[in-house]
Amino acid sequence: MINRRQWLRGIGVMAGAVARPGSAFAASKEETRQTVSPSLSLAEFSPKSMLQAPETHVSRARFPVIDFHTHITGTAKSIRGVSLASDRVYLGTPQELLAVMDSKNVRAMVNLTGGYDKGLGDVISKYDHAFQDRFYAFTEPCYEHFLVAGYPQLQAEAIERAYRQGARGLKILKTLGLYLRENITSGKLVKIDDPRFDPMWDACGQLNMPVAIHVSDPVAFFTPTDRFNERYEELTNHPDWSFYGEEFPSNAKLIEARNRIFARHPKTQFVVLHVGNFAENLANVSENLDRFANMSVDIAARIGELGRQPRAARRFFEKYQDRILFGTDATPHGDEYPQQVFNDRLYEIYYRFLETDDEYFDYAPAKIPPQGRWRIYGINLPETVLRKVYFENAARQLRVAV
Ligand SMILES: [Zn+2]
Repeated sequence: MINRRQWLRGIGVMAGAVARPGSAFAASKEETRQTVSPSLSLAEFSPKSMLQAPETHVSRARFPVIDFHTHITGTAKSIRGVSLASDRVYLGTPQELLAVMDSKNVRAMVNLTGGYDKGLGDVISKYDHAFQDRFYAFTEPCYEHFLVAGYPQLQAEAIERAYRQGARGLKILKTLGLYLRENITSGKLVKIDDPRFDPMWDACGQLNMPVAIHVSDPVAFFTPTDRFNERYEELTNHPDWSFYGEEFPSNAKLIEARNRIFARHPKTQFVVLHVGNFAENLANVSENLDRFANMSVDIAARIGELGRQPRAARRFFEKYQDRILFGTDATPHGDEYPQQVFNDRLYEIYYRFLETDDEYFDYAPAKIPPQGRWRIYGINLPETVLRKVYFENAARQLRVAV
């Protein structure tokens, strides 16, 4: 008896003996060579997973949600990464937002980039006051007055003014630490713990306004954009997101400066966005949560990180269940950033991550995973933890009745 493999080997020998251009065997070899070409570009590579795993469609959150991290409005004028205007651009109408919110069980959206002065007032009247308890705006520092004499005090007063206008908290973009300079857009970078901001942090503490702070960025953004960079495609799509090079402080230096403000202002609550801006290192985030009682985190735009370490992530949620807030970074019509584009699918993915034990699924509504080529696993949180993360922890920060 001759088995199949021996038979094929025999044919191969025979074919080798008689092969000539144009023969059937030569053609099939040629085809094989083409389909396994080693020069396939990364952009063309789109493998289909052959894994057969259950897929749970979570169309509504199990409990009402406060999305603590969204951008419904943004600055109308920004130079070299520094916002220089109170005027706002409006990224979504209340009606289009409410339609998605109602179908996804999102009770309220926190619009972190509400601006200041007149821009903030307009945002609050068009959203927060027009649709009570559905939208909460945060204010932002007014960097355009940074060189005005007495700025530290003026900025503290601006916080009080924003509070009276109806702002629920203060948002700090990564402008502080990575873009704001001594002459606003030129000169030396201003450090996150620069004492000129101390009166501002104190004002927030006195008024019980939480500070939603974004410091640094994914750690891969501080390494060269080369073949070793796990976020290579993201950085080639957005080259200005790279902070690699001597002109920028390291991720560690930025986090140390941030920690010094937490230590100096124990009465001010800080919600460190994007899982404490170090989701790649939950041990570091945990250590800081243990050190600073005034620190909480949100999970916005980081389920890609949390979901690729599902066992550590679940332990993290269990341990810090009173200090983790639901957030997405949702931006209406933000199609260039699929991991934060405001739509039904975005919320469904977050809910699937938090509520199921599904395996190996996309963390963003996009063909190619936008923050790195991997997939995530659900962490199947218990209901008590879900309730806190979805709503209760944010309600406490915002002083909203549960
Ligand atoms: Zn954001």
